[in-house]
Amino acid sequence: LGPRVGRDLSVDTHCPYCALQCGMTLTPTAGPLPVTVAPRDFPTNRGGLCQKGWTSATVLRAADRLTTPLLRAADGELRPATWDDALDAVAAGIERVQAEHGRDAVAVFGGGGLTNEKAYALGKFARTVLRTANIDYNGRFCMASAAAGANRAFGADRGLPFPLADLAGADAVLLLGSNLAETMPPSVQHLAGVRSRGGLVVVDPRRSATAALTGEPGDAVGQRVPDAGRSPRRPVPAPGAGPVGDQGVHLQPVPGTDLVVLLALLHVVVAEGLADAAYLAERTTGVEDVRRSVAAWWPERAETVCGVPAERLRHVARLLAAASPVHGGAGAYVLTGRGVEQSSQGTATVTAAINLALALGLPGRAGSGYGAVTGQGNGQGGREHGQKADQLPGYRKIDDPAARAHVAAVWGVDPATIPGPGKPAVELLRSLGARGTGTTFADDGRPRALLVHGSNVVVSAPDADRVTANLRALDLLVVCDLVPSETALLADVVLPVTQWAEEEGTMTSLEGRVIRRRRAVDAPGEVRSELWILAELARRLGSPVAFPTDPAVVFDELARASAGGVADYSGLSHARLDADEAAGGPGLHWPVPAADHPGTPRLFLERFATPDGRARLVPVDHVGPSDDVRPDAPLYLVTGRVLQHYQSGAQTRRVPELDRVVPEPFVELHPVLGLRLGVGDGDRARLTTRRGTIEAVARWTDAVRPDTVFMPFHWSGEGSVNRVTTDATDPVSGMPEFKVCAVDVRRAPVL
Ligand code: SF4
Repeated sequence: LGPRVGRDLSVDTHCPYCALQCGMTLTPTAGPLPVTVAPRDFPTNRGGLCQKGWTSATVLRAADRLTTPLLRAADGELRPATWDDALDAVAAGIERVQAEHGRDAVAVFGGGGLTNEKAYALGKFARTVLRTANIDYNGRFCMASAAAGANRAFGADRGLPFPLADLAGADAVLLLGSNLAETMPPSVQHLAGVRSRGGLVVVDPRRSATAALTGEPGDAVGQRVPDAGRSPRRPVPAPGAGPVGDQGVHLQPVPGTDLVVLLALLHVVVAEGLADAAYLAERTTGVEDVRRSVAAWWPERAETVCGVPAERLRHVARLLAAASPVHGGAGAYVLTGRGVEQSSQGTATVTAAINLALALGLPGRAGSGYGAVTGQGNGQGGREHGQKADQLPGYRKIDDPAARAHVAAVWGVDPATIPGPGKPAVELLRSLGARGTGTTFADDGRPRALLVHGSNVVVSAPDADRVTANLRALDLLVVCDLVPSETALLADVVLPVTQWAEEEGTMTSLEGRVIRRRRAVDAPGEVRSELWILAELARRLGSPVAFPTDPAVVFDELARASAGGVADYSGLSHARLDADEAAGGPGLHWPVPAADHPGTPRLFLERFATPDGRARLVPVDHVGPSDDVRPDAPLYLVTGRVLQHYQSGAQTRRVPELDRVVPEPFVELHPVLGLRLGVGDGDRARLTTRRGTIEAVARWTDAVRPDTVFMPFHWSGEGSVNRVTTDATDPVSGMPEFKVCAVDVRRAPVL
């Protein structure tokens, strides 16, 4: 904004990072950063921000911010280019690849951080201009199993089908595989009530910052037996149960066995007659099959697989039951996160969590429920508007003839020309590139060109070295990004794009609340919005379909395309969202099917979104992780995040205040394990899986089990853990098994 500075130009918007979408006010300044950041009151953060949010303005002026298009020159270097030259090169490359190898030979990879408008335009561009089936996005890495499980059970998937603040009134919250205290710290305030009642139950193989909120010190060598009498109101205390934390319970299962914990909890609920029989009869189907399926998972048997003492499993099942309305409790929630979803049995685990919640009569009841804690900033909206391989806008299935006809009418195309479904993300990345193999597209079906928007797959994809090799083998790689990410550095064409404080649009938070993102400053240099880039490419490629560049106009089209779908935005517009906010409203929860509809904070209160209105219980069973722990790789490797970094770290590693706190990857291991392996605290550890070898600094901690090591995944290079994670996927959702693989750990040789 140049000289335009001062408080009168402040804008209310939201943090650029995670799905909590904390409210913040940006004020343009004449200082080294273009805006100051101040938290504001919003239902998810209530005036709080984490370190990432406080420092988010730094990325606007990252030292290596991309400000001009880059083209790979004949000498192999990326060099500045004009927009015309860069876009002409992209269009010519697309035409060449499609002429030689077919339409599906050009693939698109989107991101869960894109605004709703960009996600919608990207899906429309792929289906109407490129007419490729091959579009998917990085949300496949983080939300696909939760989405598959929720869609199957409820007929709709909205991460949290209730406001986050509802958690405050519950007597119990079962949180599986989510480290909220580090990934979205302001959300923890909503757990204060349940902690005060001793009802927070965290399931995590690691004593994370969130697990520590239960008040259990833990020792990770073997959990102590819980104590009777510390349980909150009304549960029947487990005979012989020893002390639990003063604010809850931390269950620390063997990695990859969360499903067994859930099967055992449901077994206890069924065996002890704790289920809500009236609710099950009125609002669900399938309970008998599920009842039979958990018969074999009595707690003592489950303990032999998951390592959680049977008494603790019983205690938690009774605690949840006591908190449930059917037993007079104030309410209970079952929440899943990436820790249990990023698994080859992720959909089954989510389904088991939903089965447990349904058995207790929680979903579709005010003050109780099941939800998935979405991670990426627009992980929710990103999967609703058509950048997913199998879906069209409105969260419609791409193989549904009625959905195709509706969306085709909005786009002005023949429904028969809409391709898809395409390959899900991992399969897509695995199949890329055939340059030098002498094969043709017709022979091998491999995409030869890839357009990447808002994703850094070189760091974030599983088995990342293989992905990197595939990207190098492409005929054309185009990357839109803010900074020269590891993926952008491999590209033939790099296009610099606007970021959060430089653009208008909407995001959809983890609770399905549609909110406005607002521009506070101009983008530097020649940076452009993806909406403009897609419109320019569409024009060059002779598209008969219009691609508006005004986000408000794109939103109006998106809203029309969503009308009648599960995620119905048809009653919304930028103007309505602005007016609602000006009147003190914090955004509206979808569905909003009419301009006078108030939004839907709580889903399923009357009926579920299935054809008969009933939720489905589906029997599932434990198979185990895809990567066996055997003598060549005798330990479990689990991955996760640290407070200071976000996803691939492309943004937060460029913020000195964050980078200084956690500047490099590390591997956590228990002192008992460290002594046995001869890997001391501070030594360099060498980790070898069946994909390869990496190295990182060892940190001793009793927060991890002695059979397990933990690494965060925010870095590239020799400590990039996704270079050695498995690309095995869940058979239903296509989600990769980031969270557990087998590993051998040794002290790295001192050179
Ligand atoms: Fe809030 Fe998430 Fe941003 Fe942190 S990263 S300030 S928790 S939105």
